[in-house]
Amino acid sequence: STFDALPLSPALRQGLDALGYETPTPVQARSLPAILEGRDVRAQAPTGSGKTAAFGLGLLHGLDVARGDTQALVLCPTRELADQVARNLRKLATGMPNLKVSLLVGGVALGPQLASLEQHAPHVVVGTPGRVLELVEKRVLPLDAVRTLVLDEADRMLDMGFEDAIRALVKRTPKTRQTLLFSATFPDAVRGVANAMLREPVEVEV
Ligand code: AMP
Repeated sequence: STFDALPLSPALRQGLDALGYETPTPVQARSLPAILEGRDVRAQAPTGSGKTAAFGLGLLHGLDVARGDTQALVLCPTRELADQVARNLRKLATGMPNLKVSLLVGGVALGPQLASLEQHAPHVVVGTPGRVLELVEKRVLPLDAVRTLVLDEADRMLDMGFEDAIRALVKRTPKTRQTLLFSATFPDAVRGVANAMLREPVEVEV
């Protein structure tokens, strides 16, 4: 199978070409039809499964670059993972030249992140829950225009103690958002978060 059957814009096809992706991975093949329809998705997907492009294509598909607000929020457990995700999304957005993706993680100075957000809102935020919440609470990162929320490696985020920060952030996003949750494992804590945050999710296992 190829990406041809999916309703992707020429810009996103250009992004797939830039990354050299020709055939969807199993998690992409099983989740993308629902994601591109705007459904919530709960996917069991380990590291290396190609989940980044699955949610990346989804959030870029619905994004309006002409608007100057933050339309997608991707939460990751670690700085390193957030950095990888941001890089991958920027490549995927090769055909969307004015798209701005910001990496907002803890463990680095807050000042430059504050200054950058005060200058202009990124279309896409990729970050760790604690730092993203800190910036939201400083009123430099409004989440009221978020249409896609991604919880990446949800099990690891909960293991790292981010549940309260995640819940606080979700509360600040519109109820009408699309929520995509990816996790390698589904212990009760992850199921609880999924049940609280997802609406009639399509469930995908690989
Ligand atoms: P991820 O699980 O998103 O971190 O992706 C794991 C690796 O697979 C990364 O190196 C991706 O660039 C690569 N990848 C993701 N989707 C595809 C695809 N459809 N074809 C080839 N490589 C892919």
